[in-house]
Amino acid sequence: MSLATSRPVIVVHGGAGTWQPERSRPGIEGVKKAAKKGFEILEKDGTALDSVMEAVMVMEDDGAFNAGYGSSLNIEKAVEMDASIMDGKTLKAGAVALLKDVKNPVRLAKIVMDETDHVFIAGEGAEKLAKLFNMERMNPVTELRLQYYEQQKKVLLEGKSALPKLVDLIKKHPELFPHLDTVGAVALDKNRNVAAATSTGGYALKFVGRIGDSPLIGCGTYADNESGACSATGVGEIAIRLVLAKTVCDRMEAGLSAQKAVNYAIRLVNRRITDSYRSMGLIAVDVHGRIGASHNSPNMCWAYVTPKTKEPIASLTAKIVKD
Ligand code: ASP
Repeated sequence: MSLATSRPVIVVHGGAGTWQPERSRPGIEGVKKAAKKGFEILEKDGTALDSVMEAVMVMEDDGAFNAGYGSSLNIEKAVEMDASIMDGKTLKAGAVALLKDVKNPVRLAKIVMDETDHVFIAGEGAEKLAKLFNMERMNPVTELRLQYYEQQKKVLLEGKSALPKLVDLIKKHPELFPHLDTVGAVALDKNRNVAAATSTGGYALKFVGRIGDSPLIGCGTYADNESGACSATGVGEIAIRLVLAKTVCDRMEAGLSAQKAVNYAIRLVNRRITDSYRSMGLIAVDVHGRIGASHNSPNMCWAYVTPKTKEPIASLTAKIVKD
């Protein structure tokens, strides 16, 4: 899938995991809409940075994804959202975590990047910043997530919370728990700048205060004009332990195409991580405009647009790397 393309290029994902048939259509439509929005910005000479932010905002507003409106519920039945964004031109980055009701977490991540001296602000501080900048609020809890919560809680309880049983259950029913469908975008603009952004509600029934890979620069998100851009989705703890997005960018800097670099990183997960549940998906674009998408999970909802395709091409699978 190493597509050599001309600029500009955008790739988005709506999460790795198992996409149930009834959720497939809204997922595909959602990633297409996001990729289209991001590409329109790039075509009008917009920056990769604006393009990934706007594309991720479309998915945060959609309700079909585990980001923004429709985020997963934690163990206490509350939403705690994480997001990050990175500019490959300047290596500036912004990240937020543990947001309860900010409508667009990725926009607040950009505010951290542009308006503060910091890279990462979480919890109460992030809520304060959102207030200072009059950010729109919303209740992110949807009926669908409340239903999932009850289903997943039952699954947990049936496993009597003993870890080996829970692990067995996940092995047998990976579609039930954890439920993964974070969103992300990577882009290359006409001026050869790359950017990446990722936004998530984290995985369902996570512990209160748990922060995943999505807001961690280098783990869930990375962009550098000297290599490319990458956004990750899947079990955040694994992406953190392998500093996965930066690993992909390092491979691109060493000369691998975006597709080879994401394949390499998924292989690294398969080889080095022995956890029974290690679902992971990656999208990337290199500075030559080649795109990459691979995963070890049954599905990853994703889409891309290039000057060749003009319209978004979307799918529920990319390169599945099993070895
Ligand atoms: N990576 C996210 C997290 O662990 C979840 C996901 O990608 O769906 O928070």
